[in-house]
Amino acid sequence: MRAKSKLLLIVAIMLLGLTTATIINVSLNFREYSINNAVEKARMTAAIVKDGLTAHMVNGIMDKRQYFLDQISHNNNKIKSLWIIRSKNVIKQYGEGFPNETVRDAIDKKVIQSGKISKIITEHTDGITLRVTIPYKARASGGENSCLTCHDVKVGDTLGAISMEFDITSMRSTGMFTIIKILGLNIIFLIVVLILINYYVSPYTKLFSSLQVGIKKAYSGDFTHEFSTTISGDAKKIVDRMNILFRKMQETFGDIKHTLGTFIPQGCVSSSDPLYEAKTIIEELADIYKFKKTIELDASKADVYGRIIDILRLKYKLNHFLFYEINNITSERKIIYNTEEKSICYGKTNKDAMECRAHRTKTVTVSSEFPNLCKLCASQYSDYVCIPFSINNDISITISIIALDEENIEQIKPYISSVKHYLEAAKPVIESQILMEKLRDTSLRDGMTNLYNRRFLEELIDKIMSQAERNNDHYSILMLDVDFFKMVNDTHGHDVGDKVIVQLAKILKDSIREADLAIRYGGEEFIVMLHNATDEGTLSVANKIHSSFGNFSFNVGASETLKKTISIGIAKFSTDGDTIWKTIKYADTALYEAKNTGRNKIVEFTKEMYKSGENF
Ligand code: GH3
Ligand code: MG
Ligand code: MG
Repeated sequence: MRAKSKLLLIVAIMLLGLTTATIINVSLNFREYSINNAVEKARMTAAIVKDGLTAHMVNGIMDKRQYFLDQISHNNNKIKSLWIIRSKNVIKQYGEGFPNETVRDAIDKKVIQSGKISKIITEHTDGITLRVTIPYKARASGGENSCLTCHDVKVGDTLGAISMEFDITSMRSTGMFTIIKILGLNIIFLIVVLILINYYVSPYTKLFSSLQVGIKKAYSGDFTHEFSTTISGDAKKIVDRMNILFRKMQETFGDIKHTLGTFIPQGCVSSSDPLYEAKTIIEELADIYKFKKTIELDASKADVYGRIIDILRLKYKLNHFLFYEINNITSERKIIYNTEEKSICYGKTNKDAMECRAHRTKTVTVSSEFPNLCKLCASQYSDYVCIPFSINNDISITISIIALDEENIEQIKPYISSVKHYLEAAKPVIESQILMEKLRDTSLRDGMTNLYNRRFLEELIDKIMSQAERNNDHYSILMLDVDFFKMVNDTHGHDVGDKVIVQLAKILKDSIREADLAIRYGGEEFIVMLHNATDEGTLSVANKIHSSFGNFSFNVGASETLKKTISIGIAKFSTDGDTIWKTIKYADTALYEAKNTGRNKIVEFTKEMYKSGENF
């Protein structure tokens, strides 16, 4: 209800309440006044009757008293009936009197007995009757007219009573008329008051309504409302200031939205409330800023991936998703994180990235868009949202969120742009981590053979040792050196020398398993570390390398070929040496032994070689 209507209703209710109270009050007072007036008349009539009867008695004309009584009731048209009653004392002294002077009802009887006045009002459909019965009591005062002169009674005894019935019906109609007059006047007054209120209050209620509408719109972020008023003075000033304030707010929020839009181009919130939108974007920006600051100090790409996974789990409360890293060159996909038992993608090989619709099309893939949208997705995962994201030319990532149903997809959809903001923030950090990893890898590898270098061994040896101790692992260490290599350089040149080195590296790579390590230890010296190999296994690998290299023919001229041999020294960690470094030394000792005893052979380390101490 509008404020003005409310005010008018309240005033009308108040005035009507006042009118009702006045009417009730007037009615009650009027009734009491009318009854009291009638009773007073009855008392006066009773006094006149008493004096008249006394006069009749004194003058000895008591037998004419009925005429006197009839005249009294005749002269007062309000008196419906009037009769007198004798008490027992008077009956005893003067007899029963006329037949109509006897006790007529219980009221007469009671008044005679008690000596107390009785007033009873009886309301009928055709009128109202007041019955008043007044006792006459014996008095000593009055000289010759003292009651005791004629009556044989004591002072205070009841001599008789007079009963009168008055018609007071006019009291009702007079009362009704009075009430109607009051009501009429009050209604006129009410109408005048309401018209005046309406006239003077209307501009204020209009202003109030305008303020209400404007503030309601502002609450939902719309500051376009124009306030207006016909009131001059302070109200006008308020309206003008409100208009200025609203215009400023509208412009400011527009600017803020525009500015924030440059930070988050896709817009992370869609709301018609710019205030709410600005607040949400700022919170999002603050979160992303904190995230970015944190990942900048992370040590590795894996740590950064871990942070993204934490955001998905903790901020977006995603419990079912996979995080893939894709090699763009080889199309190989690697699962970085998986909440499920296996991948949701059902590829025949792990080099199936181009079958992933999200990765291939570089667009977010939402299963509800079309039946069987991504052919790679395993049939049990029918509801999913896959977000692809390219880090650089080499690496991409895909986040596959598994939804419970289509309704759940709708709940996930709003997170997509926000997740992308995090990925966008992480992108440069991941890129630099990839670069760092590459650099690091380069410094730990030999450029010519792509095998690990001596630095790698030096950096990793402690880690390998502690891991070996923890797992009770053992390593067979092969130390290899090309026999008379200097001659190759001297005879055929360095290029041929390099070819020999590269070929030996290839043979080493082809001869070992994934858990084994091949290292270019120096010039044409190599170390092979065979993980948990048996004695036979070790010898078998050494023989394979030895014969593969020995049998290889290098083209050194138009029709000229060259064959080279290698010597290999073998020592075992931890049976020969209790540290890897010591074992390498022993392998070198064995190699030295091989060189000294004719070259082109495999020699296993023995304690005797060590005891001789020649090589230490
Ligand atoms: P030995 O049988 O006793 O091992 O005789 P060797 O001639 O092979 O002697 P040594 O192992 O000391 O020779 C190492 C040579 O390898 C010396 C160096 O000129 C050469 N060399 C080291 N690194 C490279 C390389 O990267 N390329 C080429 N072409 N030669 C290299
Ligand atoms: Mg050599
Ligand atoms: Mg050498």
